[in-house]
Formats: sequence, structure tokens, C-alpha cells
Amino acid sequence: MIFHERKMKTTRRIYVGNVPIGGGAPIVVQSMTKTRTEDVRAAVAQIRRLEAAGCEIVRVAVPHKKALRALPEIKSKTGIPLIADIHFSKELATGALELGADAIRINPGNLGGLKEFGVVARCAARLGRAVRIGVNAGSLETEVAKNENLSEGEKLVRSALNYVEAAERYKLTQIKVSMKSFDVPATVAAYREFSSLCDVPLHVGITEAGDVFSGAIRSAVGLGILLSDGIGDTLRVSLTAPPEREVEAAWEILRSLNLRRRGVEIVSCPACGRCDADVARLLSAVKRKTKNITKNIRIAVMGCEVNGPGEAAGADIGIALNRSGGGTLFQKGVKTKKVRSERILDAFIEALEDAESM
Ligand code: SF4
Repeated sequence: MIFHERKMKTTRRIYVGNVPIGGGAPIVVQSMTKTRTEDVRAAVAQIRRLEAAGCEIVRVAVPHKKALRALPEIKSKTGIPLIADIHFSKELATGALELGADAIRINPGNLGGLKEFGVVARCAARLGRAVRIGVNAGSLETEVAKNENLSEGEKLVRSALNYVEAAERYKLTQIKVSMKSFDVPATVAAYREFSSLCDVPLHVGITEAGDVFSGAIRSAVGLGILLSDGIGDTLRVSLTAPPEREVEAAWEILRSLNLRRRGVEIVSCPACGRCDADVARLLSAVKRKTKNITKNIRIAVMGCEVNGPGEAAGADIGIALNRSGGGTLFQKGVKTKKVRSERILDAFIEALEDAESM
């Protein structure tokens, strides 16, 4: 049997700040703050936490002038590119660009129309900034929304293409597109269709996906299909949860597809009747201890000696528990020691420190 490598769809390269998007660049992880943007202290603190979690570009809501005025200070105090999320107002969109936002995200469905878009597009082109044309099934332009001959996916594509063509008329080349919906099949269909027609880089996501459990699953299903098809240059997992969880989920999706790696990858068995040890408790302790590690390390926490030694030996650090509650520790594929139950976590942490310093 032949396994095919994922082939990236060819998209053009744009930049958001100093981060390349598309044109074969690594798929970029994004998130969005959930604080009030005008509360600079809270916004900066959250952006720094997001950056530590692996967020590479952050978006902030700019719903009014107070939020707009906060942008320069937020930008000066944080280290990742900043995107201003704008709805309804071309003045806020051009204001954010003038105040130094690395990019803006606008929604064609509520900006007012192509004339208003033209004002924003000309401003972005003049300043050399990027614009995300973020089409959302919940807020399509009236004209497109009421077209009963189009499916939801087709409406998303139609709206996105209208604005890509308009951007080109205004010589705005730094654009990317998203077409989000809660409906996974409609979203997948829209992105597939769009990417067969156009080389604009794509920001992929499933919108309003839900809480950590259902949202991460819906996102993994939708984004898994798209990314496996080679579609998607940057992504956000939208969750009703602290945004750091969105970043964790995004990295887990990229890791699962062998597209990018960052931090600790954990292999753990589901535990079964062969196992007397509390695998779940050990796993959560290990996760707590490893959550700030950025180096790519694979860890295995295995409940018994059936699959345990094999998986543990394939990891950078692995433990195969035994019936007495203790376990065998593996480092880089080599069995290094037998550990008593009360020493397991400490032994793991010592092995992690060794691995981190290598
Ligand atoms: Fe059960 Fe052992 Fe497999 Fe874990 S590794 S699921 S305990 S057989």
C-alpha cells in the first residue's frame, strides 16, 4: 500500500508583521483575546500567556474607538503580530491600520459594501498591511445570503471571491481569506471549492464550535480534513474557553497530522483490566509538570507490560507501569531503571530535565 504525503495547495505568500503565511511557510497558529481591548493590562497579560502557549499571531476585537486607541500600547508591549478584528466600520478598519496593526480582519457581510471595502483596501495597500477577508455564514452580505440557488458552502465562496476580486482592483495583494461556519461539511466544501479557484492563502477554522470537548472535536474533524487535503496556511480553533486552550488544541491538531511539532507529545494508554495503577492520575500530573516545555519531546505513560515497553521505548521518555504500581522507565528507547510507585513522578521529572538539557 502506498501512503501519500500531504501536498500543500500552492498559495501566494503574504506577511502579517514578520510572520510569513502561505507559499509553503509553516502553518501558523492563531488565537484571539477575550479581554476588553481597551483594558491594556489585561489584554497584554493574555497575549503574553498566548505567546507562551505557542500562539504566533493574535487577534483583538476593536469594536469602538476606545479599543482602537489601545492598539499602539498593546503592540508596543507584546511580541507577536497583532490583528485588529473589525466589524461594521471602515473608519475603525483604516484607523487600526494607521495605528500600526499588522493586519486587520474584516467581515464583508457587515462592512457596508464594496464601496466601503474599497476605502479600507486602498488604505491597507498604501501601508503595505495584510487584510483577512473573513466571511462568516452567520453574517453574509444580504445579496448573497438571500440567493436560494446557492448552498451554504457556495454562498461562502461567492462572497469571498467577490471581495478577493475587489481587493485586486484596489491593488491590495496582502490578503487571506477565511470562510467559517459551524457546519463542518459546508465549511470543508467551501474551502475545497475556493482553493481550487484561487491562490489566496487561507485561514481555516470551524466557527462557534463549542466548548473544549465538542469544539476541539468539531475543529479537529473539519481542520483535519482540510489540512490533510493540503488546504490551510493558518488556523484558529475557536472554543468557548480560555484562548490558551485554543492554542493547545491547534498544536495538537498539527501534531496529529505530523505537520508541525512543539512541546510535549503524550502517548498514553486508555488503561484496562490488566492495569492496577492509576494511569489517569499519573497522566494529569505529568501534563501539569510539562505544560510549559516548548522543546519537542515525546512521552509515553503506559498502564502495563503488554504495549507499555514498546510504546515507552519509542518515546523520548516512557514509563511502563506494572501490577505492583511501580514501573520501568525508558529514556531514548533504553530501559534505564525500575521505579517504585512513590518515585514514579519524580523519576519522570528527572528524566525530563535530562531531556530538556540535551
Ligand atoms: Fe491495558 Fe496494558 Fe494496553 Fe494499557 S497498555 S490498555 S493497561 S493492555
